[in-house]
Amino acid sequence: MAEIRLEALKKDFDEVHALRSLDLVIRDHEFMVLLGPSGCGKTTLLRLIAGIEKPTDGRVCFDGEDMNGIEPMHRNVAMVFQNFGLYPHLNVFKNIAFPLQSLKWKPDAIEAKVKETAERLDITHILNRKPRQLSGGQKQRTALARAMVRDPAVFLFDEPLSNLDPKMRVEIRDLIAELHRSLKTTFVYVTHDQGEAMQLADRIVVMEEGMIRQIGTPAEIYNEPNSVYVAGFVGNPQMNFYAARMSDRDGECVVKFMGTEFTVPKSLIPEEQYRNESGKKIIAAVRPEDFRLIPDTEEAAKYHFEAAVRKIVTMGAGLYTELEAGGVVFTAVFQNHTEIAEGSTVTVHLDPSRIHLFDSESKLSVRTLARPEVTSDGTL
Ligand code: ATP
Repeated sequence: MAEIRLEALKKDFDEVHALRSLDLVIRDHEFMVLLGPSGCGKTTLLRLIAGIEKPTDGRVCFDGEDMNGIEPMHRNVAMVFQNFGLYPHLNVFKNIAFPLQSLKWKPDAIEAKVKETAERLDITHILNRKPRQLSGGQKQRTALARAMVRDPAVFLFDEPLSNLDPKMRVEIRDLIAELHRSLKTTFVYVTHDQGEAMQLADRIVVMEEGMIRQIGTPAEIYNEPNSVYVAGFVGNPQMNFYAARMSDRDGECVVKFMGTEFTVPKSLIPEEQYRNESGKKIIAAVRPEDFRLIPDTEEAAKYHFEAAVRKIVTMGAGLYTELEAGGVVFTAVFQNHTEIAEGSTVTVHLDPSRIHLFDSESKLSVRTLARPEVTSDGTL
């Protein structure tokens, strides 16, 4: 059992405010990913949970028990680092055995546990090797084994895939996902890679400058980003942002951008907002993959518009394009596409329900503005 509760948690390094009064609940058995750019405070948060750093203010609680004053080794947590953190002079066996020796386990119990764990991670054949004789993937498997032997209640991962080549990254990522499923413990995982976060997380915490910007499942973060910041951080290629204008037309909200008027569903914006602020500027945003390319054979229909093809960059299965419509340049990725050429004009469709709307001043989603704030347990 390990539910982690952070209450008004704050960490200053002299004048640097690494974490600014943060409230968060990480549920028992949850795979929680801390996502954000370099310097936003992800590692500091992980180190506070581990007990390697002391908070300036606030509390870290495990299952309701205040951890302030409890040393890292007594918190029942294990940490896995991007640089593996192996002891270079010890072989793989001794590296894995190290935490158990510190706990004064008997030699035969240590041997049994190390062998069982090594088998599970498929590293039995390298137990006699020193870290310098290992590939990056083997080093990270060894580090995972060393973290696992104590059966910790919480695993903390600090960018564990960063020093691996792309193929190995996928392999170790899948291994970590599988370990989470089988070990049924709480995982807290730091990354600045949104793809990794989307693939691994039960829930994601998006951070900026020592603050939480949004907490949600990968689908919630992707489909309902609560701010321009989150919308721009998650998604590849990045979401398109447009300076648009909204107006009230017979009780419906019409938003104009790319030279086209879109009547957006009422679920995207509170009615009083577009009624009271008709004519006001608003930020509209669309994910590149939400545009659809219309074949020449298809009849003209609502929300079809013409776009000039400025650039084509083919990427894997999708066709990645830079288009221009109504004087604005944007990115579109088409899955089912026919041949199109740079310099040509294409017909594109956008379903208005795929539009995201943000307040021009606060940069917050107008949908979120109509909702209750994030509560202290991190749920909406
Ligand atoms: P990265 O992805 O680059 O590791 P991060 O999101 O993990 O970044 P942190 O390492 O937690 O960010 O750092 C948050 C802020 O605190 C940064 O401004 C960093 O420079 C500062 N910081 C972190 N540790 C210390 C320290 N020991 N002394 C002084 N400042 C620190």
